[in-house]
Amino acid sequence: MAKKPEDIIRDEILALKAYHVPDASGMTKLDAMENPYRLPEAVRGALGALAGNAEINRYPDPGAQRLKARLRETLQVPSGADLVLGNGSDEIIQMLTMAVARPGAVVMGVEPAFVMFRMIATFCGVRFSGVPLKPDFSLDVDAMLAAIRAEQPALIFLAYPNNPTGNLFDDAAIERILAAAPGIVVVDEAYHAFAQRTFMDRLARFPNLLVMRTLSKSGLAGLRLGILAGAPAWLAHIDKVRLPYNVNVLTQLAAEKVLQHDALLEEQAAVLRAGRERMQAELKSVAGVTAYPSAANFILFRIARAAAVFDRLKQRGVLIKNLDGSHPALADCLRVTVGTPDENAQFIAALRAAV
Ligand SMILES: *Cc1c(COP(=O)(O)O)cnc(C)c1O
Repeated sequence: MAKKPEDIIRDEILALKAYHVPDASGMTKLDAMENPYRLPEAVRGALGALAGNAEINRYPDPGAQRLKARLRETLQVPSGADLVLGNGSDEIIQMLTMAVARPGAVVMGVEPAFVMFRMIATFCGVRFSGVPLKPDFSLDVDAMLAAIRAEQPALIFLAYPNNPTGNLFDDAAIERILAAAPGIVVVDEAYHAFAQRTFMDRLARFPNLLVMRTLSKSGLAGLRLGILAGAPAWLAHIDKVRLPYNVNVLTQLAAEKVLQHDALLEEQAAVLRAGRERMQAELKSVAGVTAYPSAANFILFRIARAAAVFDRLKQRGVLIKNLDGSHPALADCLRVTVGTPDENAQFIAALRAAV
């Protein structure tokens, strides 16, 4: 007799809630850390021509050699390091987790952090161990070192700066974790354009360090391109888990083209960094708001009855992210992405009206 899905699908998958992406049509969209600026007309035209001439009847270059050469230069990847590319860095998190998913293996991170670290561990049937951050969202190094000793994690994820809190962890604390970890430590630099700090130049010093980047937050979220840099001894194995044509023809061509104009992306990032500082000051002037320091293109803030404030912002056409209820440390927390000056002003006005 045919079984029901409940009898076939793994329990941990049955227990999951689907990742919910709210409908943002017609809204001021400040929920997903996207860059609000498009590329100049001339670059968009060049991308159109490239797409029109692309050989989409052929499979992509499985090694993405030309794109990788361009990335090495723009990301200043040290000469001893290799690259693995993913369909977004989400896919790289998945490749890494799949590669270490022995029975009993542990993947470790901090909490609160980027939810995909835990979710992908669940997808891969690996136990995820989340070490709580301190109340000010800094790393609890002693707790982390004790957890590493006790659980011997195969893989540790640290986002630098952290999402959704926005802060950079202390460099020396990360170095202690690198020295103590028995396995891989991934420093996830998704917000590098806004933090302007990196562990890339420490790859030679820490053989178990892998640095992850993405083009998503700096203006190319729709292309889906993630990058992992690190020692060939690790990456050779991670690359075996990668599906052969994971980065498609159009993404390879478009990313290579846009990276020839990386000064444009840097200009946009500089505008957003300045916008973040202005928004930080504005937020602090709203009664009852506690805004946390941010080195990313978003700001986490706490406000009484956050869920109601979130709903009222939505009614006024401004979509941000409600984190209340997602983790005890994020009670009454909301996260807003830095947009254009006009979008930021709309948000602040709606927030003043909502409190
Ligand atoms: C957004 C984000 C990612 C995922 O980025 P994609 O490359 O778009 O998959 C990874 N890590 C962190 C910390 C993020 O915030």
